[in-house]
Amino acid sequence: MTIRKDDVLEWLQVFAAEVEAQSHHLTALDAAIGDGDHGANMARGFQAVRGKLPEFADKDIGTVLKTVGMTLVSTVGGASGPLYGTLFMQMGNAVGHKAELSAADWAAALESGVEGVINRGKAGPGDKTMVDALVPALQALKQSLAAGGSFSAGIEAAASACREGMLATIPMVARKGRASYLGQRSAGHQDPGATSACLLFQTAARTWSGQRA
Ligand code: ADP
Ligand code: MG
Repeated sequence: MTIRKDDVLEWLQVFAAEVEAQSHHLTALDAAIGDGDHGANMARGFQAVRGKLPEFADKDIGTVLKTVGMTLVSTVGGASGPLYGTLFMQMGNAVGHKAELSAADWAAALESGVEGVINRGKAGPGDKTMVDALVPALQALKQSLAAGGSFSAGIEAAASACREGMLATIPMVARKGRASYLGQRSAGHQDPGATSACLLFQTAARTWSGQRA
């Protein structure tokens, strides 16, 4: 059971469409504890990624992911641009020139991406950022695979852990990013970046699970 480039391109398209569809929701979440641009930032970035799809035709998975990352850095702006950019670039670096990825390869790439986000943004669990969705999702995927679960089971477990992580940001007081300027007033609101990060896993589950149980 492997992930090929077409699977990655399909996931990117489904994610881009979901970001577009959820753009107002992401912006509303950011309006409550930030500056109300997260949905627009992400939609702009993934619109640009969609524009790169034709040039991805003859590229390998690693190059596709790195190009997605660089595109996000140059188009998203804000805090989330460099962080999402790093996530995808590091995933691409970890994948290298492999033509097909096993579930373990995918988990290793994600791990490298999430480490990149943490190194760059210096946020840890509990700081009310995208890290609070990314880390539990990655852990759930790794645990499921380590227990001998299928890729499908792993990606479903990641999507569900991600959702729990996202919801767990609601009571948190932000310690990183713009929301941290609000101090205690940031509590009671779901973090926008954790919400968009969760879409990564939900769309991966929707795109890939079942197809490859
Ligand atoms: P900006 O805050 O610059 O307006 P966005 O609105 O696009 O950028 O993104 C905000 C999201 O970025 C937050 O909800 C949070 O999840 C994430 N974020 C901000 N700072 C950090 C950080 N240091 N580490 C990880 N994620 C962060
Ligand atoms: Mg913002």
